[in-house]
Formats: sequence, structure tokens, C-alpha cells
Amino acid sequence: MNDSASGRCLCGAVRFEVARMPREIGACHCGMCRRWSGGGPLLGGISEAPVAITAGEALQWYAASSWGERGFCGECGGSLFWRQKGAAAGWLVCIAALPDSADAAAGESTAPQLAQHIFIDDKPAYYAFADAAPRLTGAEFTAAVVAKMPAAKRAFVKTFIALESVKKRLRPRPAPAADGERCGACLCGGVKFSLPQAGVGAGNAGMCHCGQCRRWGGGAGVVCVDTPGAMLESADTLRWYRTSKQSERGFCARCGTPLFWREAAGDGGAITEVCAGALQDDRGITVSRHIYVDDKPAYYDLAGDAERLTGAEYESRVAGEKRDAGPAARSP
Ligand SMILES: [Zn+2]
Ligand SMILES: [Zn+2]
Ligand SMILES: [Zn+2]
Ligand SMILES: [Zn+2]
Repeated sequence: MNDSASGRCLCGAVRFEVARMPREIGACHCGMCRRWSGGGPLLGGISEAPVAITAGEALQWYAASSWGERGFCGECGGSLFWRQKGAAAGWLVCIAALPDSADAAAGESTAPQLAQHIFIDDKPAYYAFADAAPRLTGAEFTAAVVAKMPAAKRAFVKTFIALESVKKRLRPRPAPAADGERCGACLCGGVKFSLPQAGVGAGNAGMCHCGQCRRWGGGAGVVCVDTPGAMLESADTLRWYRTSKQSERGFCARCGTPLFWREAAGDGGAITEVCAGALQDDRGITVSRHIYVDDKPAYYDLAGDAERLTGAEYESRVAGEKRDAGPAARSP
């Protein structure tokens, strides 16, 4: 049975093939993955065989930690892979980069299934999953990984992990956003921004499950915080990718972090949406609506009573708001 599948980034500049469509996928809720995915968790499956890169000129790697690196498209910022530094095989492949239709074609029994959630203790309050897959804290997950290692390596890795966890505990928590001001950054720190005072109100965020957003973030939809205008403090590595006639997505060209959405007017309009994953302090962020839920694949489902809109419902609502609000309003 031919079980291979072809994947690509959002713009199609990076293309690849996996020998076998991943069946078991995991959701990682760690802060690094959420930053790199636009706010939701990273969803991926392991490809035991080497991934064949069929178009790789735009593929870039960013070493976010001392042992792992993340592969993304330098043209569109689409998140694609995670691997141990330099590893030739055993890459984690972002499931959103593979076709959703592959599950349908493969049939029920071979469709990707969400098998576990990891770093659940890092999950923010603004989303929750509805499935019953096991949930592991960061410590539980690393202990399970270490237990599978050969004894010689185990002692070394245990020491390393202990040091990392001390470092994590010592890292200063951001000060509470008393006046509503917040700041954010990409994984590498090349792009830094702040949101204006009172720029983030209640019911401030939406989670988009459209194929474009999922391919961009590599996970379960991008969480966008509505904001009247982010102030860029450092934009050396910021790059814009035009997704449609009306809109552009901003990402960091060095680390691949999805960051902004803006209307594509001339040199670009003001930034109107910011990806929640990039915020330093995400307390107070609430997802009030899930949009393009008809594009959501079957392998994940969100809990909670936030409003759910299909693409058509959302677009007709935006068109209505546009009529009411005048030319400042927009569509995705
Ligand atoms: Zn691309
Ligand atoms: Zn992670
Ligand atoms: Zn960066
Ligand atoms: Zn979207």
C-alpha cells in the first residue's frame, strides 16, 4: 500500500514527501511551540524515515534550543519541521503541512489521531482541547523520553534537564500588565513590539482554523488578538507575505515565528492583529470565537462555549460590519 504523502508550506516554495503519513500525532503546548505556531499548540507526527525535500531552497533552520532546531519557509514563514540538531531522520512533521484530504483518502482507520498532549502545564487558559488523549506535563514527558535512552546517555541528559528546569524557575515572570500595555517578540528576538495601552480588551481574540492559518503556524489554528496597532520596536528580521489581495502576514525571517496580520494597502496598512503566541504575557487573553470551523480537520477539537463560525458565516458577518463601519473594516 502506498502510504506516502506530499507536504508543502503555505506559499508552496518548500515541498517535501514523507514515506508514510503519520498516524499518531502529538500536541505540544510548550511556550516555544506556541510562539512558533501563532498561539495554539504545535501539532505534528514523527517521520521515522528521512523526509525527502523536493523543493528546499527556501527551507531554513533555526536552533531554538541547544538540542533541537525548527525548519520553516523563509518566504512565507510556514512552520514545517522539528528535529534534533542535524538529525537525518525521525523529524517531527507539522501535520498541517500535509494534506487534510490524506485522512479521507486513507480511510477512517488510518487517519491521523491525536495521541497525546505534552507540556500541558505550559498551556495558557485561552484554549482547551475536547479530546481524551493523555496529557503529560513537561516533567512527565521528559522523564518518559529519558527512560527510553541508553543508560550512559541517561545520566548526562538528566543533569542537563535538571539545570534547564532550574533556569526556567529562575526566569523572571513578566510584570502584570497593569495599564493594558503588553509587549511581544519572536523566538529569536529579532522582532519586538508593544501593544498600545488598552489595546487588548475583553473577548479579544479569535482562533482561525482555516487551512492558510494552520499551514502558517503548523498547528491547530492561529490565535489572533485584535489590536488597533502594534508598535514595532525592532523589525530587522520582519518579513511580510501577501496571502491574498487584501491581506499580508508578518513573520520573522530568522526564526519563522508568525507574528502579524495587516491589510495590504500600498506599503502595508497598520497591523490590526497580533498572534497570541508572541505575547510575553498572555494573561487576560480570551478566545471569543472560532472561525472557519468548516476547514478544521477531524483530528482535533476545541472545548468551551466560544462562538463557532464557518468561513461563510464569518465572511458575511465581516461584510456586514464593513457596511456599518465604513472602509476601515476588512475581510481575511
Ligand atoms: Zn512558503
Ligand atoms: Zn514544544
Ligand atoms: Zn525571530
Ligand atoms: Zn485563517
